[in-house]
Amino acid sequence: MGEKTILVWFRNDLRIHDNEILLEAIKKADKVLPVYCFDPYYFTKNEYNNYKTGILRAQFLIESVSELRKNLRNKGAELIIRIGDPALILPKIAEDYQVSEVYHHREVAHEETNISEKVEAALWKLKLNLKHFIGHTLYHKEDLPFPIKDIPDSFVLFKKKIERESIVRQCLPTPEIIKIPTITNAGEIPNLSSLGFMSDMLGNSSNPQGLNGGEDAALLQLKTNIKDSIQNNWKPLRNGLNTYYSSKLSAWIALGCISLRHVYWEVINNNPEHLSPPQQQLIVDLLWRDYFRFMFKKHGQKFIPPLNSSFIEENSNETFAFEHWKMGKTGVDYIDAIMNELNETGFIINSNRQITASFLINTLKVDWRKGAAYFEEKLIDYSPASNWGNWAFIAGYNNAIASKYLIATAPSKVTENKTSVINN
Ligand SMILES: Cc1cc2nc3c(=O)[nH]c(=O)nc-3n(C[C@H](O)[C@H](O)[C@H](O)COP(=O)(O)OP(=O)(O)OC[C@H]3O[C@@H](n4cnc5c(N)ncnc54)[C@H](O)[C@@H]3O)c2cc1C
Repeated sequence: MGEKTILVWFRNDLRIHDNEILLEAIKKADKVLPVYCFDPYYFTKNEYNNYKTGILRAQFLIESVSELRKNLRNKGAELIIRIGDPALILPKIAEDYQVSEVYHHREVAHEETNISEKVEAALWKLKLNLKHFIGHTLYHKEDLPFPIKDIPDSFVLFKKKIERESIVRQCLPTPEIIKIPTITNAGEIPNLSSLGFMSDMLGNSSNPQGLNGGEDAALLQLKTNIKDSIQNNWKPLRNGLNTYYSSKLSAWIALGCISLRHVYWEVINNNPEHLSPPQQQLIVDLLWRDYFRFMFKKHGQKFIPPLNSSFIEENSNETFAFEHWKMGKTGVDYIDAIMNELNETGFIINSNRQITASFLINTLKVDWRKGAAYFEEKLIDYSPASNWGNWAFIAGYNNAIASKYLIATAPSKVTENKTSVINN
């Protein structure tokens, strides 16, 4: 019998630490073939005429894939990189390298699952199996105290039950060495122009605080966060009456440059006796992320409610208001400052996301899905379940939970100022 090779399809899991598909492939096969596809679908425009991926996230992604390649090379491996539809590329590579199975981490949002279904169908024609792993959440699906269909829709109940009855698994070890077959054409890492971006599209945009994509940068950011919190110099941010902390880990978490379990255990192990308020908040925030993913798993597309048609009839001015909101020209200073920050840096803190989303929905009466689609383009940390889930909540999909969750303390300016956009 010949050697067994397993293809590891990297998607939003761009790391070598705590990565089950990589570790399992090493265990089960003689050789491992790591592959990443830049799928052109993600660089097209969506139905609301926004790019699915803005230029800042594209840059962050390129950096993250480059670092994955570097880290794999440090273990003796190589990352095959292609630009194209994974349903065409993966079967071709699988044939070329006589692969016996393909591993990937299962996604939950419908665009991502559509892609893996197409890949699965194409591989099946070659009698190859696409094996799905669960690896994007803090709590493993199989350790939940309820089946997916019975997960409480209330975050409060979800949190209470999980914290009482479930455990976070330990991280998996980072592989020492990874054996690969002889690779003839590993492929180049694309630059922004090969993904369809023009250099002038960058405009005034700049990466927030110079955050760079990739696993190493993510691990460093976590270390700095932990050190700051131990030395008690983690600076609280203030917004209206609220005080909160921001770890700025979201962009790395979204691309899987760092695992949630790694964040969790680093925080816990560095502070076995007493978690400080920012550390406690960080752990709860990770749970919010799990919650939205599990809600998507439970409800599928139903989690995103249909548009209330009276919204549009009432608001013939919708396009005008939406365009001004996007450009940071509503005339409401606080909202405009938030939108300018989003447009320039690709990052805004959680409460500002809530405030500007709530303003779009409740004051400007614009279809919330347009706002969510705009965030999809602009956010460096865009993650389907987190983005669409948060927007759906603010739009009142589940008012009881949303009102508990929403920090409804937009500065008075937002509600008191009458502006041209609102009046128009
Ligand atoms: C309208 C709207 C859209 C959003 N879109 C996204 C998105 O596309 N991607 C995204 O990662 N987050 C999204 N969030 C959630 C949240 O705003 C960001 O995760 C957070 O601001 C990132 O900053 P941080 O890393 O400093 O978070 P921290 O407060 O330090 O939290 C740590 C981590 O927990 C997770 N997290 C925190 N809050 C939430 C939340 N409410 N929902 C889900 N996960 C959370 C994130 O992974 C975050 O990195 C959105 C929130 C709103 C209101």
